[in-house]
Amino acid sequence: MTTLRTLAWTLAATAAFSALTLSGGAPSPASHDPADLVIHNAKVHTVDPTRPEAQALAIVGDRIRAVGSEEEIRAWIAPGTRVLDARGATVLPGFNDSHVHFVDGSLGLSQVQLGDATSRQEFTRRVAAYARGLQKGQWVLGGGWDHEKFPGATMPTREWIDQVTPDNPVWLDRYDGHMGLANSAALALAGVDRNTPDPPGGTILHDAEGNPTGALKDAAAGLVQRKIPPPSDEQLTRAVRAGLDEARRVGLTSVQDISHAQEMRVYQKLLAAGELTARFYCITPIQQYESPARAGITAGFGNDWIRTGALKGFADGSLGSTTALFFEPYNDAPATRGLFNAMMLPEGHMLQMAQPADAAGLQIAIHAIGDRAIHEILTIYEEVARRNGAATARGRRWRIEHVQHLRPSDYEAFARLGVVASMQPYHAIDDGRWAEKRIGHERAKSSYAWRSLLDHGARLAFGTDWNVAPLDPLLGLYAAVTRATLDGKNPQGWIPEQKITLAEAIEAYTLGSAYAEFTDTQKGSITPGKLADIVILDADLFRIPAEKIKDAKVVKTIVGGQIVFSAD
Ligand SMILES: [Zn+2]
Repeated sequence: MTTLRTLAWTLAATAAFSALTLSGGAPSPASHDPADLVIHNAKVHTVDPTRPEAQALAIVGDRIRAVGSEEEIRAWIAPGTRVLDARGATVLPGFNDSHVHFVDGSLGLSQVQLGDATSRQEFTRRVAAYARGLQKGQWVLGGGWDHEKFPGATMPTREWIDQVTPDNPVWLDRYDGHMGLANSAALALAGVDRNTPDPPGGTILHDAEGNPTGALKDAAAGLVQRKIPPPSDEQLTRAVRAGLDEARRVGLTSVQDISHAQEMRVYQKLLAAGELTARFYCITPIQQYESPARAGITAGFGNDWIRTGALKGFADGSLGSTTALFFEPYNDAPATRGLFNAMMLPEGHMLQMAQPADAAGLQIAIHAIGDRAIHEILTIYEEVARRNGAATARGRRWRIEHVQHLRPSDYEAFARLGVVASMQPYHAIDDGRWAEKRIGHERAKSSYAWRSLLDHGARLAFGTDWNVAPLDPLLGLYAAVTRATLDGKNPQGWIPEQKITLAEAIEAYTLGSAYAEFTDTQKGSITPGKLADIVILDADLFRIPAEKIKDAKVVKTIVGGQIVFSAD
């Protein structure tokens, strides 16, 4: 992207730099190495309060070395310095997604995609087209469907797909991962019939005749999922390569991944091969807390590329599946208040895992969506703090994942207990289309309560929950700033008083996420000394109308000083 203008600036700067070298009066160039990379003509939004705005920055090796005006940064240019002209657009710290299912998202790139299916016909057509390419007995996998998008919000049943998949078992996740649809072949493999009882923490949906419809909620999904052969290392590696490609394209330089052992091995293999272009924080299942604890692993253990030491647990399900746990019943399903996840049962079980895990120095991150689930986890954290005593010097940085619908009386507990609210703004503009049908307006007022949480001193970390939502961080910023639901029905924002500013949303998606993984001294802002993880956009985000933020594009993604993505 060497425009004439860039070239002229480069030459002038190089001349100035040489003159300094010879004159000897000005700061000696030997006092610092010349930059490997300089970005200039930029609106650098640093997320660093000591210098919030700048025009240019210099990178040496994998670190940011200087941030300043055009004048100041010019001194870092020497022959061999690569100079990028940002053309007056916003430059930000690389985005850090605080909650992804990287392998699911990556595998999903090559599975049946139902995220934008809006009718039974379309649903069936896509499954049929996919199944045609498979051999007999191979699984049809994928999903992303949302019955709220079908006429009358009709729940899909196995009849939708049985005829086009007579020889292939099918498992299609709902977009939130808390429900899925099996065909008859898959139900038969799993031995699920009209007499199968609901497992604890799960529900088998039945039709009017009492036969399973194929839709299985939460723990019941495991009945079928257990029968799906796991992907090979080779398949996973191929998928993760595609996922990394997607991450580079959208400006993600770090992801916090809900990981399992096989996935962590794949990331390490890609790192050794020099192919890892995003930094991973691997959050492993809390049920297995004894393994890292026995190995002496504590929160944030690892290197600049792969860290671990955090544990993921579940308190409840999801709003869409009416399994998020509330104090009061659902407005549209008065017989239920939602479900505790099986990890919360019997009572005290989560505490029995959380206390020793915390004592071992591991970080705990628990999924909680309904107000009761969130409250229960806050109560458990408080009890762990009481039993284990004051936090270590480092602080625990407990997390609650999602924090979607909470009671105003619980806002203050986040700051008091030091709990990071790890949230996904895109869910608000997606679920916001129908959430009030489920929980009414009063409970909606403290849903996705970013403004209230910040005002009560809480720390926010933003992400997507990919594959549940699209991976693009600009969609998240757009959602946080506008709260404009995807159906176009709330152009001024759904519960507009909970909007936050663009600067606050960017901070949550960069420094906030870094804080949530104990790396805020290493990344999350454009600060000299930090890792050179940077994105250059094609627009000045602070100048364009908020509704245009979602249309902005990443022009360059830089990780550790290396340009890993260029739009041109
Ligand atoms: Zn998730």
